[in-house]
Amino acid sequence: MDTKVAIIKEDNINYEAINEAAKVIKKGGLVAFPTETVYGLGANALDEVSVKKIFEAKGRPQDNPLIIHVADKDINKYAKEVPDIAKRLIDEFWPGPLTVILKKSDIVPSVTSAGLDTIGIRMPYTKIALELIKASGVPIAAPSANISGRPSPTDVQRCIEDLNGRVDYILGGEESRVGLESTIVDCSVNPPCILRPGAITLEMLRSINDSIYIDAAIMNKPKEDLKPKAPGMKYRHYAPKAKLKIIQGDFQKTIEKINEMVLNYIDENLKVGIMATDESLPYYKVGEVISLGSRANLQEIAKNLFETLRTFDDKNVDIILSESFIREGLGIAIMNRLTKAAGFDIIKID
Ligand code: AMP
Ligand code: MG
Repeated sequence: MDTKVAIIKEDNINYEAINEAAKVIKKGGLVAFPTETVYGLGANALDEVSVKKIFEAKGRPQDNPLIIHVADKDINKYAKEVPDIAKRLIDEFWPGPLTVILKKSDIVPSVTSAGLDTIGIRMPYTKIALELIKASGVPIAAPSANISGRPSPTDVQRCIEDLNGRVDYILGGEESRVGLESTIVDCSVNPPCILRPGAITLEMLRSINDSIYIDAAIMNKPKEDLKPKAPGMKYRHYAPKAKLKIIQGDFQKTIEKINEMVLNYIDENLKVGIMATDESLPYYKVGEVISLGSRANLQEIAKNLFETLRTFDDKNVDIILSESFIREGLGIAIMNRLTKAAGFDIIKID
């Protein structure tokens, strides 16, 4: 399949490209596009045949439902009911990186929700995404625009790498500002439950309703009796090709441990990447070292996480050693993605 690529500017939108991409959606094709979380791979959410193409292009398991992207807050057509708490979350956090799960109405085909009687729905704030949805005239079902299992793309080059030849159109814009997928809150249950942590943090959600809690299964290795409630959270995910290990503990001891491990791996002729921070960068003298940003700026760490994992893949390292982050605020989402990418391989030091 020929893939058309158009790169446009968020602050000076080329509507010719938007309209061309919208035409592809209307005709049942696939369009990758930028959002503030990560790039999405979109199709008409209300058309079964179009939605099936998303699963094929990504190699996505059929039981992993898609999030529907809308351009305004009027979602009554897609949800059977919108409880008060969902209305308040939408009022406060839309447009933005928050997905709410609601009881599905009949106009949304069951392939979109992977057979569930609920749907995930979100209004992104990236203008290119909003304009594309508006011009398409339909809600757009869009998972992350990567091949399933790989780290999600936060810029257009990564979309092209994964999807060129597999989709009809790639609409490029700026890098994703958040860099992690949306927070998912299940509002079809009471009290609402966070199924996936993201940039809308637990504290932010609790400022609206203090009974909201996090699904206990998502921060730990999935077990038989503790399975994540969001189908997608059970898969190995966000994973680079290299083996990723997280070193967790006191800052100085972490640096010492990483330096010791690097030397051992180099002895074994392995190529090692170190996922460092601005604060630790000067202490690593060997290996491929990349800083995720400053520990004082978790937004920066989140934004750079997936891109850094992909850069290590480009460098063909065998092992990546990562520092660990505080499990508070945005740090909960960062550690959720990092531990999943590492297959929960965490080395704890005292
Ligand atoms: P992605 O779009 O690739 O970020 O993946 C979407 C995520 O949303 C996956 O983890 C899905 O399991 C989750 N999701 C979407 N719809 C639902 C739903 N109705 N109930 C629970 N989780 C959902
Ligand atoms: Mg994804």
